[in-house]
Amino acid sequence: MIYIVGAGPAGLITGLFLIDRGYDVKIFEKNREIRSTACGEGCDEKSLKKLPFDYEEAIAKKVKGIKMFFGKWFFYVDVDGMVLNRQKWLEKMAHEFLKRGGEIEFSKKVEKIDNKYIYINGEKEKYEICIGADGPFSVIKEYFGNTYNYMIGCQYEIEYDTENMDYLEFYTDRKFSHYYAWIFPKEKSINVGLIGKFSMLDKFLRYKNIKGKIIKKTGGAIPVGSVQRIADKKVALIGDAACLTNPFSLGGLSPIIYAAEILARNINDLEKYEKEIKKHPILNPVLIKGMETIFKTEEKEMEMFYKKINGKELKEIKFWDLFHLLWHPSTLLKMYKIYKAFCHSLKWGW
Ligand SMILES: Cc1cc2nc3c(=O)[nH]c(=O)nc-3n(C[C@H](O)[C@H](O)[C@H](O)COP(=O)(O)OP(=O)(O)OC[C@H]3O[C@@H](n4cnc5c(N)ncnc54)[C@H](O)[C@@H]3O)c2cc1C
Repeated sequence: MIYIVGAGPAGLITGLFLIDRGYDVKIFEKNREIRSTACGEGCDEKSLKKLPFDYEEAIAKKVKGIKMFFGKWFFYVDVDGMVLNRQKWLEKMAHEFLKRGGEIEFSKKVEKIDNKYIYINGEKEKYEICIGADGPFSVIKEYFGNTYNYMIGCQYEIEYDTENMDYLEFYTDRKFSHYYAWIFPKEKSINVGLIGKFSMLDKFLRYKNIKGKIIKKTGGAIPVGSVQRIADKKVALIGDAACLTNPFSLGGLSPIIYAAEILARNINDLEKYEKEIKKHPILNPVLIKGMETIFKTEEKEMEMFYKKINGKELKEIKFWDLFHLLWHPSTLLKMYKIYKAFCHSLKWGW
């Protein structure tokens, strides 16, 4: 029997892949039921298509791509994506997992593991294999002694007419967030959030003149940085517990889907899972470089870049559009690093 800690996306997706390979799997979840954590719910279609179940009914809205804004300027990318109804998506996944023979024990808070036992609600149980999918503040990560850096995100879901909204919108203006803000359309609502505090988000809402009724207020931590130790012979980490978020886009769902398939395939040799993940394109160092470069880029440099490519689709942007940056070589180099990370993210899931 394989034990998984946490019935979030990482635990459920890994559980499904394992069940489909014929393993017995039990998930321990601390909550009384499936409960989504904070999320913009945006995901690319290419990654979602790898899931071994029909998720169509959990799609809140399909989008044509991504729009990147800076002030009044923007560029866009046409690429298949969607905004999920994540609660419905997780419930559907849990249903599939149970239907195929998996077990979920709710109200089971795992306190820790050592190399033999898993400690749950004051009792201990021997395990053969334990997968830590227990989110950003994972207790299983402590088995490896991992410590993470976090970015904090906050979000409102707001009632809104989204009929004419076909893109995931990102706002890179520093006056709202030190990283970015987002507006993702759902069926009859939008997820509006940013990396930073609610006071900054309120300012962003005023700037965008968004006034609808707030349906939900959520926030959470996103682990960022390099992946550390994530497996030995009997224990493995996945998802936020493994710091497996895309450090550039901060998306966690696509990396989970890639990692869960690799983990299930290597369940009898978990150290191979770690090796394969560390070499995988979802952890390419260009992503971290891209994120670090954004923090080093000044407002006026962003402005120079966006002004020249305003209104264009990514593929239409030619070197000549950025010719003026030849007189600002350090800005040109920064934009190149960000561009590389952006394109890599588009290819491997945002
Ligand atoms: C504001 C915000 C917006 C985001 N937007 C996006 C987005 O648009 N797209 C995207 O791809 N990613 C997004 N992310 C990241 C994404 O939400 C996470 O990467 C993803 O939820 C990680 O899934 P997980 O299963 O690893 O962890 P979680 O979703 O945190 O799930 C962990 C599960 O484990 C359970 N658990 C925790 N501790 C224990 C314990 N001790 N014992 C038993 N059970 C336990 C929890 O109750 C939970 O059910 C966003 C994150 C934030 C904070």
